[in-house]
Amino acid sequence: MRTFALVIFGCQMNVYDADRLRTELVARGWKETSPEDAALVLFVTCSIRGKAEQKVLSMLGRFQKDRGFEEGPFMAIIGCMAQRLGEELLRRFPGVCLVAGPRHLGKVAAGVEQALASGERILFLDEDPRGLEDLSQPPLCRPNPWKAFITIAHGCDNFCTYCIVPYVRGRFQSREPEKILEEARILIDQGVREITLLGQNVNSYGTDRDDGWSFSRLLRECAALPGLGRLRFATNHPKDLSPEVVAAMAEGAPVICPSLNLPIQSGSDRVLQKMNRGYSVESYASTVSLLRGAIPHVGITSDLIVGFPGEREEDFQASLQALERFRFDLVHSAAYSPRPGTGAASMEEQLPREEIFRRLHELNELQRQISLEISRKYVGTVQEILLDGRAPRGEGLFQGRTPTDKVVLLQASEELLGQFLQVRILSGEHWCLRGEML
Ligand code: SAM
Ligand code: SF4
Repeated sequence: MRTFALVIFGCQMNVYDADRLRTELVARGWKETSPEDAALVLFVTCSIRGKAEQKVLSMLGRFQKDRGFEEGPFMAIIGCMAQRLGEELLRRFPGVCLVAGPRHLGKVAAGVEQALASGERILFLDEDPRGLEDLSQPPLCRPNPWKAFITIAHGCDNFCTYCIVPYVRGRFQSREPEKILEEARILIDQGVREITLLGQNVNSYGTDRDDGWSFSRLLRECAALPGLGRLRFATNHPKDLSPEVVAAMAEGAPVICPSLNLPIQSGSDRVLQKMNRGYSVESYASTVSLLRGAIPHVGITSDLIVGFPGEREEDFQASLQALERFRFDLVHSAAYSPRPGTGAASMEEQLPREEIFRRLHELNELQRQISLEISRKYVGTVQEILLDGRAPRGEGLFQGRTPTDKVVLLQASEELLGQFLQVRILSGEHWCLRGEML
């Protein structure tokens, strides 16, 4: 029996790619097992920060040392890091039989079979940033039966100066709307209750097409699919989030969830400009007002980078002020990490790491307090959650999410998984709520 395991790093797009790859391998007669037992381990990798890459490299090294490589297990490295490091991975890890960039996903399953049969080592690099060898089937084999992702656009053309994504994921390319809708229909028929549409900048959907499709139209058409309980999307670019999308969200309730991620990245206009973000703090504020005016109680999360080259103390203070002003539900904060080949990596005034981490710590403390205050406002309210799994922490507890995307931990039972439940919120912590079923 040919056995495989998937080890997934990074973003939701990687989870989607891994779900489709699993579906394809199973259809070809492979069986999924644990990385300890598998004959082939596929690593779906991330390059967004140096730390993400180091994690993968040390895991590959450890894995190869523990299990040897002459007779397997064989390893395949897929995704952003595969694209960035290419041949170097083949050189460093003799157990690697295939390295494939994110735009070669469709060739991975046949590629590993060929590599294992012939003993050759295969390298599929995305030399053409517009080329695409995609997988065509929906992600039918998923760990979570009730929730699924659908990528609606590949790549990114924004070239924010800190970001490696346009270099490793290639040019922006919207998928065919009919294919997206068909994939959603198949997933709903399979029992999926919640779909999340994915792209590096979903708001640009359709801008590379000339047939009138836009993200707001896609949202409306997906939300109208019979049987879909919830629709979410990630992620948005503040410069492109249009009033039409906000209107589609407001009119599409309750299927379109009142929550979104709107990465601000910095609270300083000077830094935003150096990041090539294309908006100012005031234009960002107008978008937030538009959202909060149209969708009361909308949950907004954000991303923020600390220690971008040349970030002065006053720029950092402006980021802290932005957190106070916008009061995000949650912030994915990150210490700036220079990525080879990006504009910011060669900028002067790179900050010392200790200073970056001091700022990060201060920012996280402030946000923790804000998140806690927001969570506590839920206490006593009744929320509808989709019960989607066992809680990773907390004995015997299950978890689900509110429409605003807050995690709720509660006592429940296996038969209720995949159902929408009414829950009274009993307490709020900075990262989750605790509740009881009504
Ligand atoms: N497309 C999204 C946007 O425009 O905000 C972001 C996608 S990126 C995959 C996810 C997050 O990683 C970013 O929002 C940013 O905060 C963080 N990130 C990207 N490059 C980074 C870097 N070089 N150092 C630290 N964080 C980084
Ligand atoms: Fe990276 Fe900017 Fe594209 Fe987001 S929009 S993926 S941060 S280049």
